[in-house]
Amino acid sequence: NHTRDAGHARTRDRQHVWHPWSPLSADRSELLLSHGAGSVVWDVDGKDYLDASSLNTTCGYARPEVEAAITAQVRQLHQFDLSLGSHEPAGLLAERLAAHLPPDMAKTLFVNSGSEGMEAAALITADYWSNVGKPRHRFVSFARGYHGSTLLTRSLSGLPRVDHGFGAVLDVIKIDLPLSPIRMAGPEALDPLVVAFERAFGDDEDDWPAAVVVEPVLNVGGGVVLPEGFLRELRRLCDRTGTLLVLDEVFTAYGRTGRMYAFQHEDATPDILVGSKALAGGYLPIGAVSVHRRIHDSFRDEPNIGGVRYGHTTSGHPVSCAAALATLDVVEKENLVARAGSLGKDLLDRLGPLAGRHEVVDVRGRGLIVVVELSTWDAAARLVERAKENGLLLRQPGEAVIVSPPLTASDDEIAAMADRLERSAAEAA
Ligand code: PLP
Repeated sequence: NHTRDAGHARTRDRQHVWHPWSPLSADRSELLLSHGAGSVVWDVDGKDYLDASSLNTTCGYARPEVEAAITAQVRQLHQFDLSLGSHEPAGLLAERLAAHLPPDMAKTLFVNSGSEGMEAAALITADYWSNVGKPRHRFVSFARGYHGSTLLTRSLSGLPRVDHGFGAVLDVIKIDLPLSPIRMAGPEALDPLVVAFERAFGDDEDDWPAAVVVEPVLNVGGGVVLPEGFLRELRRLCDRTGTLLVLDEVFTAYGRTGRMYAFQHEDATPDILVGSKALAGGYLPIGAVSVHRRIHDSFRDEPNIGGVRYGHTTSGHPVSCAAALATLDVVEKENLVARAGSLGKDLLDRLGPLAGRHEVVDVRGRGLIVVVELSTWDAAARLVERAKENGLLLRQPGEAVIVSPPLTASDDEIAAMADRLERSAAEAA
């Protein structure tokens, strides 16, 4: 299984692979992986790491059930474009997703990534308002939100790293966090947050926003956990103004927060729901845009084709759908949604005492998204680097370090992740 010539593999990578979202000074070939199993990956030198860096490993590496489903689907029907016809895996997966949503959210448009899902959500929003004859163009989102790499999705964000310099592509009011990320999870953040959104919505009925677009936990924007009640208040505001609630659950959907969807913690059903990363457990790319019936049905009056003008040749790829069905089977059979809740609590209890030590200023979380915030970006980078040497992979958005293991991690692996992180923090400080 090991790579025969690690040196050559690294040289080849340095010469030919352009790594996304990476400074050219960073050598990504330093972490050149060979294989994985469960929560562990091995690099080409045979060094093993616990992987808590992944955004999409629902049921870990090398699950035989998912592998078998992928192989079977490749043999049976490896591709067909959903704009021309259909295939059984698409129907089975859409039905499976609908079973976890209210009956009015029964229609799903498949995509290949989170960015595509959010791009589709923005386009669907604009078309919906034109379909119903009351065009609205204004969006409201978090300045620290991240919704993808495409032009529309990055224009929903105010993060400097996604500023494209093309000017305003969408008309977006971007809300700054009213308190520091450390204080956003507490109840004291709710009122100022709601006031900020109410102000952005305004009092002018003729100028109410088309949609508000938010992540339930801000991921790339620094692992920001929002106060309990926020989504419920946002739902109330949307109900009053007719504004669509678009939830970007690209990172949070399919169990990671301890519910199938993060909005289910608050019973605040969105009008458009986008999920992606964990859907097929990272085995293959896929995303899902589920919409309220009235939005779907408005497209009968869409003036160009009488339907949604969005899709890619590989949208709803049958092999990706089969991988997603097999992943959801594991999620259900092994009760991984509840397990994410209990493992997350365990990890938070273990890491909580780090706050105030080794340049750690805060530890917070929702389910199996545990955020360790450092005093500076450099301190966070040093921690991630040290953890890698100690056999633990972590991710660093800004000053935050996010710990997001597979939902199938064992109790011992969670304990080992906490130990390695604590040791690394002490060594890096
Ligand atoms: N939305 C959120 C909340 C994300 O975290 C991401 C990716 O990190 C995206 C959208 C974009 O997804 P993708 O990288 O699959 O295009």
